[in-house]
Amino acid sequence: MKIEIAQNCGFCTGVKNAVQLAYDTLKKERGVAVLGDLVHNKVVMDELEAEGLVFVDSLDKVGNMPLLLRAHGTDVKLMHKAKEMGLNIIDGTCPLVREIHKYARELEDEGRQVVVIGDREHDEVIGIVSRLHDPCIIESPEDIDLCKLKQRTGVVIQSTQRIENVQHILPLLLTRSRDCRIINTICEPTRRNQTEILSLAKNNDCVIVIGDPASANSKRLFEVSRSLNDHTYMVAGKEEINPAWLKGCASLGITAGASTPVKLIEEIVTYIKLLNGDKKK
Ligand code: SF4
Repeated sequence: MKIEIAQNCGFCTGVKNAVQLAYDTLKKERGVAVLGDLVHNKVVMDELEAEGLVFVDSLDKVGNMPLLLRAHGTDVKLMHKAKEMGLNIIDGTCPLVREIHKYARELEDEGRQVVVIGDREHDEVIGIVSRLHDPCIIESPEDIDLCKLKQRTGVVIQSTQRIENVQHILPLLLTRSRDCRIINTICEPTRRNQTEILSLAKNNDCVIVIGDPASANSKRLFEVSRSLNDHTYMVAGKEEINPAWLKGCASLGITAGASTPVKLIEEIVTYIKLLNGDKKK
């Protein structure tokens, strides 16, 4: 069986930096607090927890530890509260997410109502809208009537959005807004992953997407691939691989979400090679 591994799969630059920042800080501090998941991947989180990262669900539980802010950004009200409490903040926000915050404010300064295309429950979107006065979140074309749009609008997009979803929403927005400025803020790593998954799904008999169920971008890669290739499967670890999937599969494409560590990808590739070798015997 031929195995093709997507070139840019696994940790994106933002996640890589945030994880590195956590390890660097843990070398100097006895404990580091993070609100919620630093990365949407259980393997990575378990390893960090073993090194001293403490996951807390409120600022009151941070205590004397430094507070690490996650790659996809934080609600600005929460940041202000943390500062007021005198907490030592270590900002792991990805520079590309910060750029979205900057663009969104710039659009507002131009007198536009900002429309954020993204998942309303996602921390990145919560972080973006928390910096704006009268934002509107649109997740899907069905949401278009949820917002009373002004005539002057500006659009930013959650960094990991599927381009197809955005392409369905934008024409509807344009019919409701006279003067609309669109800034494509889907980040470069996401765009590369979305392009790669198309060829991976088309050029291989089956595809395995490695990612945690909590990882939105892993799920998106899976959905795109499944829409093109029925033999697409998503796994969080090698134990979830069903050897029957690989029967009759002459070529296998492998990719992974932006929160999947390279170690896990290598482990799964080795496991599949072993399975494949066993079959040949
Ligand atoms: S997906 Fe893109 S914007 Fe989000 S953390 Fe990764 S590199 Fe940054």
